[in-house]
Amino acid sequence: MNKLWIDERYCKGCLICVDVCPKKALKASPEINSKGYILPVEKDMKRCKSCGLCEVMCPDFAIAIEKAEG
Ligand code: SF4
Ligand code: SF4
Repeated sequence: MNKLWIDERYCKGCLICVDVCPKKALKASPEINSKGYILPVEKDMKRCKSCGLCEVMCPDFAIAIEKAEG
């Protein structure tokens, strides 16, 4: 299964990645981080099709999808 990777140094919690995911694989975290941001977290990565849209649309280059082996 693919994994979500977020660079907390750069993510500002705009949640564009959550909105643009066509598979609804991501969601907003229920928790606020130490900077006061609500970051994206995995919702259902079984749905992720590695389309890369979340990575392309992130204005801060803060998200990557680590593809599952095989
Ligand atoms: S689009 Fe980028 S900056 Fe915005 S919440 Fe997603 S990872 Fe963070
Ligand atoms: S790679 Fe595509 S399907 Fe997977 S989380 Fe990002 S936008 Fe959604």
